[in-house]
Amino acid sequence: MKNLILLAVQGAGKGTLAKALCKKYGYVHISTGDILRQRASVDDELGTQIKNLIDKGILVPDDLILKTIEDKIQESECRNGYILDGFPRNLEQAKKYDEMIKRLNLDEGIVIHLTLPEDLLLKRITGRRICSSCGLIYNIYSDQMNSKQDGICDECGSSLYQRADDNEESMKNRIDTYFKVTVPIIDYYKNKGILYEVDSTDSNNALISVESILGFLGDHID
Ligand code: ADP
Repeated sequence: MKNLILLAVQGAGKGTLAKALCKKYGYVHISTGDILRQRASVDDELGTQIKNLIDKGILVPDDLILKTIEDKIQESECRNGYILDGFPRNLEQAKKYDEMIKRLNLDEGIVIHLTLPEDLLLKRITGRRICSSCGLIYNIYSDQMNSKQDGICDECGSSLYQRADDNEESMKNRIDTYFKVTVPIIDYYKNKGILYEVDSTDSNNALISVESILGFLGDHID
């Protein structure tokens, strides 16, 4: 399977789409946010530094994230295809990632740019709730994505929580950073001819669109 890079503003549904594709086709989900949150929960100097940055919605240093990605994509489970969710986040990371996959002789794959009408954006983030056990993502403002019972995961019955950085200050920083430093990557990948746009207003339709793109490209998703 082709490796996928998911690119989208916060709340557009990168995590939801990645989880659906992984469940259905067996990709490995590489969410840099999840990896960093896990590292931040370790009570040492690096953990504290990462936590401070995440809580404020500031990107962690490129070197740290590049090393994390390089280690991860070389794991044998990633050989059948992986999905990058949250990386690359700026042009420097995108260029360094290109060098990395050339050096490691890996497939560059394709980039899916998820789009979302602006009025939905804030609701997607402030309404986001996550299962504390299985990580499934819900949204209290969406009929399609709300849990059946308030605060309880439909799949495993565990409680749902709101991410600490889904608050207004951090959100503002993250969205500003997205438009200033992440958006230029869209043109970078467009120019390479590997970028595909997918409307993410409805998460089921977004999944179907990605499946058609992969089918059209002759990818072996089975
Ligand atoms: P969101 O997309 O909602 O901002 P993520 O879970 O992707 O959330 O990221 C949470 C935080 O982790 C970011 O605000 C940033 O501090 C850090 N982070 C995640 N991915 C990267 C990356 N590729 N480069 C630098 N920092 C990152």
